[in-house]
Amino acid sequence: MKLPAFEYACPATVAEAVTLLASRDEAKLLAGGQSLVPMMAFRIASPSLLVDLRKLSELRRIDITTDGVRLGAMARWRDIEDDARLDTAHPLLKAAIAHVAHYQIRNRGTVGGSIAHADPAAEMPGIAVACDAEIAVVGTAGSRMIRADDFFIAPLITALAADEIIVEVRLRAWQAQRRWGFQEFSRRRGDFAMAAAAVFYDVDASGKARNAHIGAIGVGDRPVRLTAAEAEVNGKVVDQAVAERACAAASAAVDPQDDIHASGAYRKSLIGTMVERALMSACAQH
Ligand SMILES: Cc1cc2nc3c(=O)[nH]c(=O)nc-3n(C[C@H](O)[C@H](O)[C@H](O)COP(=O)(O)OP(=O)(O)OC[C@H]3O[C@@H](n4cnc5c(N)ncnc54)[C@H](O)[C@@H]3O)c2cc1C
Repeated sequence: MKLPAFEYACPATVAEAVTLLASRDEAKLLAGGQSLVPMMAFRIASPSLLVDLRKLSELRRIDITTDGVRLGAMARWRDIEDDARLDTAHPLLKAAIAHVAHYQIRNRGTVGGSIAHADPAAEMPGIAVACDAEIAVVGTAGSRMIRADDFFIAPLITALAADEIIVEVRLRAWQAQRRWGFQEFSRRRGDFAMAAAAVFYDVDASGKARNAHIGAIGVGDRPVRLTAAEAEVNGKVVDQAVAERACAAASAAVDPQDDIHASGAYRKSLIGTMVERALMSACAQH
């Protein structure tokens, strides 16, 4: 289908982009276009002005310091995929992003676009919540940081104000001995997750898990932490029995709705299996 008519602007600075975005109610940012353009084609979105962020090369940086990883909003999936530093700086992120869509989409889709789009089955919002990421945004009132857990409200709805632009997603420093696992089930390679689990924990001197983080993707109207499953892991030496108890806790904690892809009961069971497999792959490391 043809797109509805729109005006187009391609600012050279973030400040200019904010001004353009705030200039009218129906303005929308364009990043990779991999979600917005299909929505325009289907008339789900009909912005009168598209503010293209493609010239803002400073937003495409991936910075890695002792504080953690800073992903510029315009960093593309392929930038993450190609960045060998992330193999050690954030292996969980890298493993998750390998599941995003197909080559052509990974070549254009961006971190900021995915976070702003807030699809509950998307990998990047799930990683942001599982890892306690912070989202740096800039608007006409200045800049602010939003915790990922406060950012995602419902499908396609976020805490972002209409005049705000995501500039960066910050992930805390990855601990060298950390155990982690990412498991996703989808009907076909590259499809959105039917359910996925992102898991990590640290190990103390006695081999027991602490600081467990277990995130669930695709089983609700936003990505969530599964704190009951985390409680089954913390303070334990992770093994099959612990993973099975976390599996049960994960399934019990979610209440997914039926949809055209799967029943809620199926997804409820599936997330438990994903958590169990992710924990088993984590405890097999080192
Ligand atoms: C066939 C297909 C399969 C896909 N499969 C997957 C998948 O398996 N997993 C997955 O996670 N994604 C998947 N996607 C989505 C893809 O990852 C997109 O790249 C992602 O949703 C972000 O889109 P984008 O960067 O192209 O942003 P756009 O489409 O350009 O924008 C998306 C939304 O974000 C807003 N926006 C963009 N940048 C910013 C910013 N910096 N600040 C504030 N708002 C902003 C836009 O205004 C728009 O509302 C798929 C897409 C397609 C077409």
